[in-house]
Amino acid sequence: MKAAVIESVGRAVVTEVPDPTPGPREVVVEVAACGLCGTDLHILQGEFAPKLPLVPGHEFAGEVVAVGTQVTEVAVGDQVAVDPSLHCHECRYCRTGHGNLCERWGGIGVTTAGGAARYALAPVANCVKLPEHVRTQDAALIEPLSCAVRGYDVLQSRLGAHVLIYGSGTMGLMMLELAKRTGAASVDVVDINPARLETAEQLGVSRTAGNADELDRPEGWDVVIDATGNAAAIQDGLERVAKAGTFLQFGVADYATRVTIDPYRIYNQEITITGSMAVLHSYERAAELFANGVLDPDVFISHRLPLEQYPDALAQFAAGVGRKIVVVP
Ligand SMILES: [Zn+2]
Ligand SMILES: [Zn+2]
Repeated sequence: MKAAVIESVGRAVVTEVPDPTPGPREVVVEVAACGLCGTDLHILQGEFAPKLPLVPGHEFAGEVVAVGTQVTEVAVGDQVAVDPSLHCHECRYCRTGHGNLCERWGGIGVTTAGGAARYALAPVANCVKLPEHVRTQDAALIEPLSCAVRGYDVLQSRLGAHVLIYGSGTMGLMMLELAKRTGAASVDVVDINPARLETAEQLGVSRTAGNADELDRPEGWDVVIDATGNAAAIQDGLERVAKAGTFLQFGVADYATRVTIDPYRIYNQEITITGSMAVLHSYERAAELFANGVLDPDVFISHRLPLEQYPDALAQFAAGVGRKIVVVP
């Protein structure tokens, strides 16, 4: 079959690889589309994935075309979305309900062959059946949405919160859609790129700005979400949290990023600073939210490119082009 392969650090190609065959509790999914994200760039740079070559792609859905001998939950012809999380279920983190922090954490498309290919292998436990009205080529959005749902789980946001989001890329916009639906009193979005803010405005937002000063809210926001990973944005955001408010680190910063905090204010104003990592018990709910129209795929997916153009698609993503880029086998 045809597949994208990250052969070595900095080198991605599209080539022929053997078709997968399912183990007893696995299925083969014919991939309808596979999304690209920052994780794929990290893998290309030699981080995250211990073993190259690797077929990347952890954001995908499609049709089941083969099932293992002990699979009864799904059948050939079913539409499924695939949770890429591979937790060991044995370590202390798994056993205390924190599988996303598993000591032997793995992911389909990160530590095993993924969905940037005609076919992908998945444990049946990772497959979520999709209703017929869902277009599987759009359902690549469920995985990033499940990360956003996890972020909202961490926030435990109450009704009537004033929310400030840094970054209006795919993840910031997903947080925006969830904030609207979790009863925020207002949702403001900050981005230094005016073109990206246009999409936030199109989706419905209270206010947008290139700098939070323009929003003139000296008392701060109950919830501040960083969806950039950028040090300047994070530093600014930490200083915008209202009394009793929460800062969520949702964007992926570089390992070396550092910001300063104000311990007296954290104490005196009961500020919470927290983070959320990937997916935890949130994929199924993301699939249901997606099937119920929580976001418009035609807004979120800006580019649909053939799988053959995978290296170019990665380069476009790295250059910050558009929003979600998916490749179609
Ligand atoms: Zn991703
Ligand atoms: Zn574990």
